[in-house]
Amino acid sequence: MSRRDEEGREPGPSSSLDYIRDTEGDPRRALAIVESLNPISEGDSERCERVNFDLLNLDTGLRVSGRCDVYRCGYCGPRKTLRYQQAAASVNPARRVGLSLVPERFTHARKQLNDLAIRLRKKGYEWEWFWAIERNPEGTGYHLGAVQKGSYVPQRELERMWGGRIPYIDAVKDGRGGGATAYVTKGATHYVTKGGLGGPEGYYEHLRLNGGRGAHWSRGYFGQPVTDVVHAMRVEQFGEPEGQWVKVVRDL
Ligand SMILES: [Zn+2]
Repeated sequence: MSRRDEEGREPGPSSSLDYIRDTEGDPRRALAIVESLNPISEGDSERCERVNFDLLNLDTGLRVSGRCDVYRCGYCGPRKTLRYQQAAASVNPARRVGLSLVPERFTHARKQLNDLAIRLRKKGYEWEWFWAIERNPEGTGYHLGAVQKGSYVPQRELERMWGGRIPYIDAVKDGRGGGATAYVTKGATHYVTKGGLGGPEGYYEHLRLNGGRGAHWSRGYFGQPVTDVVHAMRVEQFGEPEGQWVKVVRDL
């Protein structure tokens, strides 16, 4: 929490990143919750309203909502983001990165972030990242949360290249990649992983800050097509998919 607020001073743009702390997010647990939300039980109205079908597994009898799978869908978007978040964790990011004083307007922010990555690579650093922009909890502006693969960049060097604004860079501890990655996109995924706390408004705010997407990543972050990463991850978690899925048109 901000000591500044307790002292009653006016919050100005904050370059402090001490709110970027480790969280105990467990992506497997989050996934279990999401999967448990997916089956349509009686009286469960939560489903994708942009399609008129459900998916039925003929072998297991499991019925789940059909999906449009676009970010702007309040049902599919957070789940899509969660899928990429978990995929981003599964390729073992080496570091957590935070950048302060990110512009609110997404096009400006994206340009600064892309420029930073380009300059880092020109200096010989290997820099691939998975990132999202978030409002500071104190309402003092915006920051970037990211996980990174590639070279270690000293904090001082990163600060210089980020125009003197305060960065944060720290190693992801063994086995903590899931929590670090969950932290990046929590603005989009808490809507589904925390039982809908706060409703969908936070999710749509996240989309606004991130140019309509749940997360962004550099071309080399996944090292292969992201759909292949997602598939491998699902097979590892649940085994090869069983049974035959068919579309079932919903009763009106
Ligand atoms: Zn949808």
